[in-house]
Amino acid sequence: MAERQQATKEINNTTAPRTLFLLGAHHPSWLEQVDVPLFVSHRRLRGQQRLPRALGPWALDSGGFTELAKYGGWRTSEGEYLEAVARYAEEIGHLQWAAPMDWMCEPFMLARTGRSVADHQATTVENYLALRQAAPSLPFVPVLQGWTLADYLACVDRYAANGVNLVAAPLVGLGSVCRRQATSEIGQIVTTLAELGLRLHGFGVKRAGLARYAAGLVGADSMAWSAEARRRAPLPGCRGHRNCANCLAYATGWRRAVLARYAARGYQGSLFDGYDWPPAGERAA
Ligand SMILES: [Zn+2]
Repeated sequence: MAERQQATKEINNTTAPRTLFLLGAHHPSWLEQVDVPLFVSHRRLRGQQRLPRALGPWALDSGGFTELAKYGGWRTSEGEYLEAVARYAEEIGHLQWAAPMDWMCEPFMLARTGRSVADHQATTVENYLALRQAAPSLPFVPVLQGWTLADYLACVDRYAANGVNLVAAPLVGLGSVCRRQATSEIGQIVTTLAELGLRLHGFGVKRAGLARYAAGLVGADSMAWSAEARRRAPLPGCRGHRNCANCLAYATGWRRAVLARYAARGYQGSLFDGYDWPPAGERAA
């Protein structure tokens, strides 16, 4: 635990982060029930009067995908978000990094907002700069948005033109990838950006995506366990739910299996190094 706290401190001081696979969690209370690294959305945390105290490292999803899909733009203001993230960092603790209020670039999202890729990128970069300036001590990470490889490279240039050298950033979020991971285009995008020296976190990566381009990522998060569990009977021993789509036992078991599979394929040196995970107790399981 002491080492993990030390790691948290180092990351908050913006030295190189440890590599993380973050388990997507619907329930904020999981933060105080397990110490596996979690990914929790602002949409799940906001409005909670009492916040959990995190046992392990976690990162914050801004909830932009849902907010843009639902409303065609951000309803949350920059000030609200800043205030919320400051509160999470203070009260929950162990916050490794926080996504900015970014704008995804899937074609259906552009149709929803009525804006262009360049416009979404410009607003994403502006928001990152504004959050960083307003709260330099909060661990906001820059996020690349785009659709084609040329878009993502243009987004890198846009950060550079605004004085942000992404190669020097401890972590760079890679957005708009979660719905098209079986395509070779994504592999090319990840490889090209990783070769530039970017330390990428892939948002919403699924098994197919991990299998294709895990070596180009230093971090990923996934909620894929939930959709998988929804289609299945509950785990033996689970009582009180019809399926395990919201089940901590299912989620942590899924995580163990994913980590074991990728460790066996030789990915320890890329995706899963840093923390002692799977933790020693889980490894034997
Ligand atoms: Zn269950």
